[in-house]
Amino acid sequence: MNETSKNLNLFSIQLLEWYHLKGRFLPWRENIAPYPVWLAEIMLQQTTVATVKDYYARFLEKFPKIQDLAAADEEDVLHLWQGLGYYSRARNLHKCAQNIVCERGGVFPNTEKELLTLPGIGPYTAAAIAAIAFKEPATVVDGNVERIISRLYRIEEKLPKSRPLIKERAQALTSSSTPDHYAQAIMDLGATICTPKSPKCDVCPVSGFCQAYKEGDMLDYPKKKPKKAKPHKTGILYIFEDAQGNLYKEKRPEKGLLANLWQFPSTGWEQEQLPEELEQLLYDHEAADIGTYSHVFTHFKLTFDVKHIKLADTMPWDYENKPIPTLMKKALTLLKNNLH
Ligand code: SF4
Repeated sequence: MNETSKNLNLFSIQLLEWYHLKGRFLPWRENIAPYPVWLAEIMLQQTTVATVKDYYARFLEKFPKIQDLAAADEEDVLHLWQGLGYYSRARNLHKCAQNIVCERGGVFPNTEKELLTLPGIGPYTAAAIAAIAFKEPATVVDGNVERIISRLYRIEEKLPKSRPLIKERAQALTSSSTPDHYAQAIMDLGATICTPKSPKCDVCPVSGFCQAYKEGDMLDYPKKKPKKAKPHKTGILYIFEDAQGNLYKEKRPEKGLLANLWQFPSTGWEQEQLPEELEQLLYDHEAADIGTYSHVFTHFKLTFDVKHIKLADTMPWDYENKPIPTLMKKALTLLKNNLH
């Protein structure tokens, strides 16, 4: 074994020793089978561990097996997902379950390469499932790992250009004997020790290998291309309420932003006018201004002025249990705060 491979080996030994003593206790680590591992990994994309824990428990309770999830209505899946955001994940989760049940006899593919062919499974998730559930020495690289590797090697190239180099370095460090533990250990290191703003280098198990630590410039890494400011859109949101307290909602299109979720109608950002029957209701009733709120999407920020229109009549509006996005929940909160 040459000097470099000895060092790489030592890196994973020290990381794994630390993981066995200090790794996080997470509910999805209790049950290392492909279905729960996959479920947790999809939920963890763009969402914190603290938020995911409850959703994970609720999903497993309602859909204990992948067959249960595959057989569910998409609306039920979206309803249970409500509040987790990035709803295309929920739709892909459902599609992926149906693919595995209908086309693969309910059996998960067991390699990174094959996992990548499934709906909603990108490179990070494929590597995580392959490593954790099937012990394939696949290399997980997410934002946490990018940060660790950039600091370990003081990578000067900026993200996202530096990704191939980061991947190469990360691959060289991946343990081939216990890839499942290694993947979880490096995730834990990024989440609890090598954090973005205040890395705890004094207790870091791999500080001896870290060039940025040696130079004292950890916070300068990873180098990133400056972010462009997000465009800001504005609109008016209308909450029509009938005499029984029912609120009018409409279903969003099948494709695109917040697809298939339900919403209060709005103008000024996606469409200029309300449907004719709502325009008529607006014309016939008084609209009260109940406030303003904003929501930040991946590519833009949206601010709504909210109007509440109370009708004297009862309308045939029954939208109980229709899944609504956080964007609309914020409007409901505003309404409640105004009525009390
Ligand atoms: S020494 Fe500090 S900067 Fe380097 S990997 Fe550890 S926590 Fe991160």
